[in-house]
Parts: sequence; C-alpha cells; structure tokens
Amino acid sequence: MAGENGTRGWIGVDLDGCLAEYHGWKGDFEFGQPIQPMVEFVKKTLEAGEYDVRIMTARANDGPEVVSAIQDWLEAAGLPRLAVTATKDFKMVMLYDDRAVTVELNTGRLGSEVLAEWQRRAAFNRSCALCGGTWTQEAEDRAANLGSRT
Ligand SMILES: [Mg+2]
Repeated sequence: MAGENGTRGWIGVDLDGCLAEYHGWKGDFEFGQPIQPMVEFVKKTLEAGEYDVRIMTARANDGPEVVSAIQDWLEAAGLPRLAVTATKDFKMVMLYDDRAVTVELNTGRLGSEVLAEWQRRAAFNRSCALCGGTWTQEAEDRAANLGSRT
C-alpha cells in the first residue's frame, strides 16, 4: 500500500522520550534535546525512501500551533518538517515508541519472548552437530538428553 510519496507506507516515531529527551511535562511548546541515534535513524529511513516517517505524538491533539512548533523543532534537529499525527492508520507499518511493547502477530506472545527464542535457536544452531545447523525442538531435546550439544 503506497504512502503519499509512493512509498510502501509510513513509520511512526514517537516524540517525547524517543526522538526528543523527556524529563517530565513542561508544556506544549517545550521540547527536550534531540536523541541523536533516533535522529540518524529517521534520516536514514527517509534517505532509503522505502517508507515515509511521521511523528506520532499525543501533542498532535493540542492544535496546529503545537504541530508547527514540533516541525520547527524537527528542523532545528536537522530533519524535514515531517507530518505529525496522533492517529494510526492502515499505512502505518511500524511504530518506534518508548512506551510500546511488541506483541507477536496473532499469538499474544511478547516480542521479547520471541527474540529470546530466536537467540536460543541461533545459539543452538552454532553449537549443535546433531541438528545440521537447523534448530528443531526434537534436536534440542535430543541434545539435552545427551547432556551436551556436541
Ligand atoms: Mg514517548
């Protein structure tokens, strides 16, 4: 599904605590310092051109003057005046947010659990001659019963 610039969709990036430092609410027109790794991430994402980036923040509900102030802040941080929204839609493919917790699609499993499983399988593949480099639960059980992964 194409975004407004012919991209495949858009990535939401939260403002407070994600793109801008956040040390408690100080008002609609007060923003923290840019968080440089996230600023660079946004730049690289825009350069790649596959996805648009929108700033996803509840501040967007506070009026056009606030949105404009956020865009001023973006420019001062070396970024374009990106779209600012508080609303997801079907074109949003990913969200970067300091409060979000990833949940695996259709399972209810937390992303951290999925990642831990992937890491366990990768470690198993690196160390297990029995599995031929491909993790299976059977191979892992067999290795555990042998008391070793060799
Ligand atoms: Mg936040």
